[in-house]
Amino acid sequence: MKRIYNFSAGPSILPEAVLKQAQEDMLDWQGTGMSVMEMSHRGKHFSAIAAELETDLRELMGIPDNYKVLFMQGGATGQFSFIPMNILRGNTKACYINTGAWSTKAIKDAGRFCDVIVSATSEQGGFKTIPDPSSWTIDTDAAYLHYTSNETIHGVEFPYIPDSKGLPLVSDMSSNILSRPVDVSQFGLIYAGTQKNMGPAGVTVVIVRDDLIGTVDKKLPDVFNYAVQDKDKSMLNTPASYNWYLVGLVLKWLKSLGGIAAVESKNIAKSARLYQAIDQSSLFSNPVDPAFRSRMNVPFILSNPDLDKTFLAEAEAKGLAELKGHRSVGGMRASIYNAMPDEGVDALIDFMKTFEKTYG
Ligand SMILES: *Cc1c(COP(=O)(O)O)cnc(C)c1O
Repeated sequence: MKRIYNFSAGPSILPEAVLKQAQEDMLDWQGTGMSVMEMSHRGKHFSAIAAELETDLRELMGIPDNYKVLFMQGGATGQFSFIPMNILRGNTKACYINTGAWSTKAIKDAGRFCDVIVSATSEQGGFKTIPDPSSWTIDTDAAYLHYTSNETIHGVEFPYIPDSKGLPLVSDMSSNILSRPVDVSQFGLIYAGTQKNMGPAGVTVVIVRDDLIGTVDKKLPDVFNYAVQDKDKSMLNTPASYNWYLVGLVLKWLKSLGGIAAVESKNIAKSARLYQAIDQSSLFSNPVDPAFRSRMNVPFILSNPDLDKTFLAEAEAKGLAELKGHRSVGGMRASIYNAMPDEGVDALIDFMKTFEKTYG
């Protein structure tokens, strides 16, 4: 067996320790004689797994008691609609910051439910920066302010929590949740699909302040309703139970490393080494304003795009996989989530240096 370094943006690399634990538990979870996949989601074994999942997430992120934690389906994309369906609370307006492809999608979907005020956008410059907050136009009568804390495709990350001028702050943290500590009490709602930095695809985490939920149109289906899902512990219907268990293993792994602050230090070091290698090269470059470069998704282009195919083929032959950039921006992208070991980043840097010597 040979494992590669997988730089995919999502579904993405998982900690080897998690995969091994899952392998060990596969046929017989803790003496039950069953795989977690086979368990009733209402039974005592799975109930224990579910309770620990929530407790561990609360502990790792320091989630205050007045926040609900939901584990939903439908991906972050589902939330683009579920959020206005649940937290407009009779309001007709919501503010959005547009910093890339994912913000753009969130804005488009929200537009079906309310008047979207785009408070700031970096679209004109090709989503390479974050507009200065002094230029944002926040309507303080709107229901909330939404932003994408890390733009997975454009490689742009907020290094701070925006000032929402008193509006509930909503953040799509799909690609940087658990990569750095955040003060949850500053948010109205945080959401994330799990397949970037938390586990496999199939679960969407929603952390929402309790006063924001419960005022909804009576036609809203129960499966989309945060208040109903909360009351039923996210088990209104059958949840993606095996995926909950895998996310739980990822959380245990994070705790074993010393929690999110410890992981953040590693992420700072890993991303700094890769950006430095890119900046020192004359073949590779990163287009993003250095103040807002993502620690998770590092896009880079080759000054000679004729070499793209060779680069990808030789990288793959060295066990460095999934480096092709998103089809909308081209070039390359190295996603270096929590689970990417230092050795993977160093192997990529070594490969890039050798490649530049040969072809640069
Ligand atoms: C991947 C991603 C999404 C979409 O997630 P799905 O689970 O595929 O719906 C949304 N926002 C961000 C920031 C992402 O990285």
